[in-house]
Amino acid sequence: MRYSRFLAPTLRDDPADAEVISHKLLLRAGYIRRVTSGVYDFLPMGLRVLRKIEQIVREEMNRAGAQELLMPMVQPSELWEKSNRWEKYGPELLRFTDRHNHESCLGPTHEEVICDLVSRELRSYKQLPMNLYQIQSKFRDEIRPRFGLMRGREFIMKDAYSFHADEVSLEAEYRNMFETYKRIFTRLGLKFRPVEADTGSIGGSASHEFHVLAESGEDLIAHCSGCEYAANVEMAESSRNIPAGEAGDVTGVDTPNATSAEDVATYLKADVAQLVKTLLYRITGGPEDGNIVAACIRGDDQLQEIKLVRALKATSIEMASDEEIKAVGGVTGFVGPVGLSCRRLFDDTLKNSVGLIAGANRIDMHITGLDIGRDESTSEFADLRQTRAGDGCPKCGNAVKLSRGIEVGHVFALGTCYSEPMEVQFQNREGKRSTATMGCYGIGVSRLMAAVVEQCNDENGIVWPLNLAPFQVAIITMGKSDSGLEASEKIYHELLDAGIEVLWDDRKERPGVKFKDAELMGLPIHLIVGDRGLENGVVEVRRRNETKEEVKLDQILPALQSLLGGSQA
Ligand code: ATP
Ligand code: MG
Repeated sequence: MRYSRFLAPTLRDDPADAEVISHKLLLRAGYIRRVTSGVYDFLPMGLRVLRKIEQIVREEMNRAGAQELLMPMVQPSELWEKSNRWEKYGPELLRFTDRHNHESCLGPTHEEVICDLVSRELRSYKQLPMNLYQIQSKFRDEIRPRFGLMRGREFIMKDAYSFHADEVSLEAEYRNMFETYKRIFTRLGLKFRPVEADTGSIGGSASHEFHVLAESGEDLIAHCSGCEYAANVEMAESSRNIPAGEAGDVTGVDTPNATSAEDVATYLKADVAQLVKTLLYRITGGPEDGNIVAACIRGDDQLQEIKLVRALKATSIEMASDEEIKAVGGVTGFVGPVGLSCRRLFDDTLKNSVGLIAGANRIDMHITGLDIGRDESTSEFADLRQTRAGDGCPKCGNAVKLSRGIEVGHVFALGTCYSEPMEVQFQNREGKRSTATMGCYGIGVSRLMAAVVEQCNDENGIVWPLNLAPFQVAIITMGKSDSGLEASEKIYHELLDAGIEVLWDDRKERPGVKFKDAELMGLPIHLIVGDRGLENGVVEVRRRNETKEEVKLDQILPALQSLLGGSQA
């Protein structure tokens, strides 16, 4: 490609609205442009990279025995009503009505459509197992689209769905996909980690997320320093030090204006871990739908909201308002579990503890000497706290670390939660009707492009690995002489004929501008054609950011081929 004819508009400065490095660089280097909130154009260079990522995903999925198909983006409401998700999915599902008054949505995921297809084509256990996948645009009306391709509203996903006659077959495919994902992310050159994940409101028996480790990641991952244990903090378990506490009788104490756990602990000269923080939530979904529930944790812990959602089999929770707190007998700022009229859940670490301090549900008052096991007959315990760095690993006891991660893939053993309502049935070995068991497996293809840039960049721009770069070689013509352009053109065609992807910077720009752009774009090998070199029959070849090397004109191809290591084939 000749740069003078190519749409690759680079920007000198960081765009004001870009916060993370991948967003800044993909905009600056001319890979993407924003159309509207969470919706992007992939410019020619962006598309080249996207296609390379897709191809790696495709090759590995095919190698694993999955079959590619393509489903539509528009999905009729009937299918979602059948799976009971039309109401449940919430505002991320973009619903609309067509001219015939028919309700549809833009697909955020494709369980309904694939189940509908398979339910009509599946007859016998002999057709199973079967794994079908697509690489396609999804739409989710995300509440906070941000970070460019990282969290878009329209984005590209590889989604695969497997169907099985029994659990054993599902487990085997789950492992197959798990290994396939490891191969994909390795080929993409990423530092990644599979982590145990929450199975969420969907249910299902097993779930792992694959995270690319990066500071800009939206997820927090707990991983052990001594063993393989790694889990999203949404479900990570861990042990912590628990203060001994002194047994005593429950006593009311004045704590004027002390509302935070720290203030109360300081005022009472107590360990903040001995305080019981009581948080009240309004619950949506599940058996507590519409009710207020109290969650109690230690004063120096944070509540992990997803754990509470899971313990209550809810779909979402929201902090209760002052009126709602009052209605269940609480006093904002001084809420404690004793005397509340709502359901109360206590964190496991509060079990068998004595001498606890809690709000008294009276202004400027707390109680001391609380022993939940002794004083509260109907207490329920659950793991509600968020794992902290330094906690004990649940598997081996060593210290747990926390890292930020970008979720790039997700594998999920679903069971029959979709196939049951969607009636994906087949005749089993015994000749009886049976419901297929399912797995689903997603990869954020467009998010991956951002994730690679998060890990592969330097002060001059993007540093693509060879196999993902939009062009492997940039020919940079330095002078403006006809002989320089002619020589460059000859080299350009020679490289194209050899199957090398090359961007020839034939623009009438200063050399400094050309170098800057080639570095910003992250092109791995630069071939510099200057008038002086040509007089001596040489050009300069260098890998991005490395020293130059002079190469004779008739040795360019072998020199490049050795640098490319045969990867251009
Ligand atoms: P997240 O927690 O990041 O919202 P999710 O759990 O909703 O992700 P899945 O439904 O498992 O995601 O989708 C499969 C994959 O699609 C994810 O692992 C992620 O890589 C990608 N993905 C999900 N939402 C987005 C988005 N808004 N923009 C870009 N990629 C996304
Ligand atoms: Mg999501």
